Amino acid sequence: MLCKIIPEKCIACGLCQVYAPEIFDYNDDGIVILKNDSNAYQEFVPDNERNNALTAYRKCPVRAIEIIEK
Ligand code: SF4
Repeated sequence: MLCKIIPEKCIACGLCQVYAPEIFDYNDDGIVILKNDSNAYQEFVPDNERNNALTAYRKCPVRAIEIIEK
């Protein structure tokens, strides 16, 4: 499963890190970044984080997270 972030859409609500703290983090402005690589906009999600990433995707109010099943 591939997870993409679109920081331009992010409104810094903080929900994605609540649901998937191993995947998402924030920059100094509260905008979403990927925890494992703050310069990346996509990463493959390990199976054990799959449900958390899906929950974050569903909860993001502005669809700044995309999930692509591979
Ligand atoms: S849930 Fe969406 S809007 Fe909220 S911080 Fe995460 S990416 Fe940004």
